[in-house]
Amino acid sequence: MNNHTPHDTELTLGALVDCPTCGLPAEVTDLFTLGGAPGPVEHAKIICVRRHWYTLPLETLTATTAASERTSASAISGQR
Ligand SMILES: [Zn+2]
Repeated sequence: MNNHTPHDTELTLGALVDCPTCGLPAEVTDLFTLGGAPGPVEHAKIICVRRHWYTLPLETLTATTAASERTSASAISGQR
């Protein structure tokens, strides 16, 4: 089995992603693997601040935390 993915999307419980419907922050409340073709796919259950909820494959989600970490890191290094 090959679990390596080209992009390193590290989603964990409690991570924030963009809601597909309203674009507001959605929290990952569950992570699980669904068997399917061609192989098992990792899914995340997310619930956004407007209570939209989805079960989506991880690869369709973008973690917003990684982006904000990068932003704050550059803000810190730019600050003196
Ligand atoms: Zn939403």
